[in-house]
Amino acid sequence: MQQQKDVTAMVPDSFFDRSGTLQQVCAGQSTAWMNPSLLPFEATDALCQLIVSDSDIADADARLRRFAPFLMKVFPETVPAGGLIESPLRPIPAMQEALERTFQCVIPGKLHVKLDSHLAAAGSVKARGGIYEVLKHAEDLAMGAGLLSPDEDYGKLAEPEMRDFFSGYTIQAGSTGNLGLSIGISGAALGFHVIIHMSSDARQWKKDLLRSRGVEVREYGGDYTAAVAEGRRLSGEDSRSYFVDDENSRTLFLGYAAAAGRLKTQLEEQKIKVDPDHPLFVYIPAGVGGAPGGIGYGLRRIFRDNVHLFFAEPVQCPSVLLGIASGRFEKACVTDFGLTGCTEADGLACPRPSGFVTRLMTPHLSGEFTVEDSTLREYLRLLDRSEHLRIEPSSCAAFQGPVRLLKEETVRHYTALHGLDARRLENSTQLVWATGGSLVPESVWQEYLG
Ligand SMILES: *Cc1c(COP(=O)(O)O)cnc(C)c1O
Repeated sequence: MQQQKDVTAMVPDSFFDRSGTLQQVCAGQSTAWMNPSLLPFEATDALCQLIVSDSDIADADARLRRFAPFLMKVFPETVPAGGLIESPLRPIPAMQEALERTFQCVIPGKLHVKLDSHLAAAGSVKARGGIYEVLKHAEDLAMGAGLLSPDEDYGKLAEPEMRDFFSGYTIQAGSTGNLGLSIGISGAALGFHVIIHMSSDARQWKKDLLRSRGVEVREYGGDYTAAVAEGRRLSGEDSRSYFVDDENSRTLFLGYAAAAGRLKTQLEEQKIKVDPDHPLFVYIPAGVGGAPGGIGYGLRRIFRDNVHLFFAEPVQCPSVLLGIASGRFEKACVTDFGLTGCTEADGLACPRPSGFVTRLMTPHLSGEFTVEDSTLREYLRLLDRSEHLRIEPSSCAAFQGPVRLLKEETVRHYTALHGLDARRLENSTQLVWATGGSLVPESVWQEYLG
């Protein structure tokens, strides 16, 4: 066990709350923190629309649709969905039962999974934000050079002359793995020179896969924040280089936010109601905050106070939680709160959160669940056994929400405050957002499942 530092020496007393939850977070214990800054949707609407509006999200969705002919050409697996990179929404009753039995809990309502773990092209939720930002950059460059207009068939972007054009430009990003995969794979498909700056947490197979696609992978001994800083610096020195800034990007956020409208359609198709009597609980693993923030923000704009949005983070790396709870946003580093930042959940190993996302999500987030690495493995095995679904460890963090929901005192206060009585909880949809997994090689599954 790592030694517990004296947290109180570094963090002002005023940071800790009366419930003792933040003390538990800083002690590296798994817990449920409810966000005291959550506001009714109405109270957030005017200001939030100035930052990310409904029409900004609609614009991102329209852009993704313009790219559909191109995506079908370079990623034929998107053909059945007409060139949209989208994932199934599924009930998982066998997993619900397995979790209830194994963890001696009751999960109210119906447990569902959103399988972004199986998104085309990149095999993770990063296929939403990362690919969107690469496509938008390609569109900006091609339009700026007079090579493309919005009413043209974007299938032409797969032609050799366009690849030649894009090969004169570089895209760079810092990543713990999956963002690099999404940017590397889509950037290489367009013909860009791509450089990914990988933190020490990144898995070997992710680096190997990228190199096999002709992507330049640079490895760093330091953490994610350090890899991003180096990528940002190097990209800034090259006028033909574009940096996908996971810690600040509004474009990435919009790519993620476009997921919400797609989920609304899927819920309607499956006749799943969302209203005050049928609340929607959504649980998403958070690293730097972009993916869960963008998706969650989009969901709040559609479902308003009927969606209850919870993030999940590793006990030693709850950077989004600490950024929001402390009001220090990107300045909050988990090590300043006595934690190590170390986790097996490579996709969540971000010691500082996004300043943009933590600020914007402060009035929208219901709360967070923190989870031990060892529990992630248990969820991973249970899902494989009960539903024959494989998702990577980071992605499993989301199951901590439904498992702990009715067990935590802090959640009981939350549900009482929001009028979520037993009947409404029983009518609820419990949605776990699976964020990665389909590209994991078989040998690595054997290690995870072993
Ligand atoms: C990136 C990632 C997340 C979290 O996304 P952030 O934008 O870093 O918050 C969650 N799960 C997986 C598997 C990821 O790759």
